[in-house]
Amino acid sequence: MASLSDNDRAAAIAILDQLRAQISAVAGEDRDRLFQLRRYILKRLEFDERGTPTQRRKLKEAKRRSQLGLCAICQQALPARGAELDRFRAIDGYTARNTQLLCHSCHQKAEAERGFSSS
Ligand SMILES: [Zn+2]
Repeated sequence: MASLSDNDRAAAIAILDQLRAQISAVAGEDRDRLFQLRRYILKRLEFDERGTPTQRRKLKEAKRRSQLGLCAICQQALPARGAELDRFRAIDGYTARNTQLLCHSCHQKAEAERGFSSS
C-alpha cells in the first residue's frame, strides 16, 4: 500500500492538532473526561476503517459457515474461538468478498507475505 504523500501527512497532522485542541477544550483539567473522549473518538475512527465489532462477528460467522468450519488456507478445522478474518486488500475493508477466515498461524503467514501486520 502506498504511504501518505508529504502534503497529505501535513494535512493529517493539522487535523490531529485541531482535534487534540478541541478535545482538551472540552475536557479541561478533567483527566477522566480526557481519557473517555480520546477512547470514544479512537473507537469511532477504528469502526470507520474496520466496521463495528458486531459487523465483524457476523461476517466471521457467515465465513465459518461458507468455509464449512475449515481454515481457508490449511483446510484444518478452525478453532472454536480465535479464528481470524483476513483481508485480501486492507483498503477494501471487512466485506464477504474481501475476506477469508483463517487459523491464527495461517493469518500470520498471509500477512507476513503481504509485508504488513494489521490484524
Ligand atoms: Zn490455517
